[in-house]
Amino acid sequence: MATKLLVTLAICRLIVTVGFTFNPNDLLRLGLDGKLSADPADLEAASVDFGGLYRAEPVAVLYPATSEDVARLVKAAYDSARGFTVSARGHGHSINGQAMTTNGVVVQMSGGLKNKVLTKVSEKLMYADAWGGELWIDVLTSTLEYGLAPKSWTDYLYLTLGGTLSNAGISGQAFNHGPQISNVHELDVVTGKGELLTCSEKENSELFQAVLGGLGQFGIITRARIALEQAPQRVRWIRILYSNFSTFTQDQEYLISLHGKPASQKFDYVEGFVIVDEGLINNWRSSFFSPSNPVKFSDLKAEGGVLYCLEITKNYHLSNADTIDQEIVILLKKLNYIPASEFTTDLPYVDFLDRVHKAELKLRSKGLWEVPHPWLNLFVPKSRIAEFDKGVFKGILGNKTSGPILIYPMNKNKLDERSSVVTPEEDVFYLVAFLRSALKNGDETQTLEYLSNQNYEILKFCEDEKINAKQYLPHYTNQREWRDHFGEKYWTRFQQRKLEYDPRHILATGQRIFMPSF
Ligand code: FAD
Repeated sequence: MATKLLVTLAICRLIVTVGFTFNPNDLLRLGLDGKLSADPADLEAASVDFGGLYRAEPVAVLYPATSEDVARLVKAAYDSARGFTVSARGHGHSINGQAMTTNGVVVQMSGGLKNKVLTKVSEKLMYADAWGGELWIDVLTSTLEYGLAPKSWTDYLYLTLGGTLSNAGISGQAFNHGPQISNVHELDVVTGKGELLTCSEKENSELFQAVLGGLGQFGIITRARIALEQAPQRVRWIRILYSNFSTFTQDQEYLISLHGKPASQKFDYVEGFVIVDEGLINNWRSSFFSPSNPVKFSDLKAEGGVLYCLEITKNYHLSNADTIDQEIVILLKKLNYIPASEFTTDLPYVDFLDRVHKAELKLRSKGLWEVPHPWLNLFVPKSRIAEFDKGVFKGILGNKTSGPILIYPMNKNKLDERSSVVTPEEDVFYLVAFLRSALKNGDETQTLEYLSNQNYEILKFCEDEKINAKQYLPHYTNQREWRDHFGEKYWTRFQQRKLEYDPRHILATGQRIFMPSF
């Protein structure tokens, strides 16, 4: 009864807001098991995202109970005379409204699944089958019951499978295992025609590749089969410092070149960050103190005021704890960091994976989580990273950054060229992530306007210097920019895939790649 009422409310809004010729009774006849809502609180929740920069209100929100619900809704949009848009929303952790839609329905994939389908694990075949709106933290919790875990991660686990797989899903394991999109065996996808299809390398393989990194343009992922490995028990987490950028990047590149070696001869995770901020230089270590290393920052000479921190981990089981120190010593010997600038901690594997959530809780308690986030993520080709350092880290940024700046290299051969994700045309490229928070009452350098202008300057620098950087989690406002992003060859393929799988441009219009054709 309640569902019927909400559906009716939603339909009234559909008619009033966009004046559909689409027959509202069609929605009533869909026989959805989930909840279709036009409750203002639900619409509000679907109108905002983590970025806090954009707002777009849908006409209704669907909380699907099954894949079939999603398929019925999209089919209704596809078949109706005038159509309406449908956008999957994972956990709403996009920056620029990518999961929003006006004049349409948001499918809220995370939370609220009526008969919550738990992650199913095959111990024998080492995979997990999970709902597309499942959070990675919940997948991890389920797989750990079998002593197993996914191989490739993001730094933060409160993101959905469908959301990260629509981008790439990158963290420090990517050099070794590839991003998350390289660790998927099979998907169930509702295409823009409302067909529910299973796809994999062998079955509907074009759809499979299109959807991975496909920015939600070709279908809604309702199930993903994720590759698993034996879960390590503990992690040795190490940070080492550099004052010279080329030494830092040489060491990072050396470490990722070890990807083909046996596990004992490489690290499991390679990331890094840039320290330009005076405050950070003084404070960053406090949560990562190693009493055996009494190094003082005043002793460190930061070239051009910038320090670089290489962050590495080694996973282990308690049964081989006695060899881990020796393996680390051998690996560290090959690196040229500032002597005695090594900080080590040791923690359970889950605590390492879930580390950003701890920071989230701290920021939330200070009211600093729900602020605008003008983030910028770039893939920079290896051959141009030194110029990027000079022009951006030692130039445009000044000495305040309003948040972490990550930098780490990846091997292109760990990505499938057939997927939809766009990366530079070099064997190795860097992820550079400016993860900034804007404050209303901060000084001028912390305002949204200042940080947004700085992002623009960084992009302009890359364009003027022909760095050939590619945006990760890309944001453009018109098709010409999207075309440049893809380059002619991949743009043609992307368009063809759109024509095949979402010809009416119903899906994920918040990406602003294709205008709805109605
Ligand atoms: P949403 O933001 O809700 O959706 C993103 C896009 O995917 C939208 O276009 C949406 O329509 C589409 N979509 C959502 N669900 C589906 C589905 N089931 N099927 C098809 N399309 C769908 N990314 C990394 O790669 N590495 C990181 O380490 C990392 N760390 C992060 C840390 C934080 C604190 C935050 C906020 C983000 C981080 N991200 C990282 C970015 C993250 O991968 C993206 O925000 C991504 O979009 C996932 O978020 P989401 O699940 O909330 O998806």
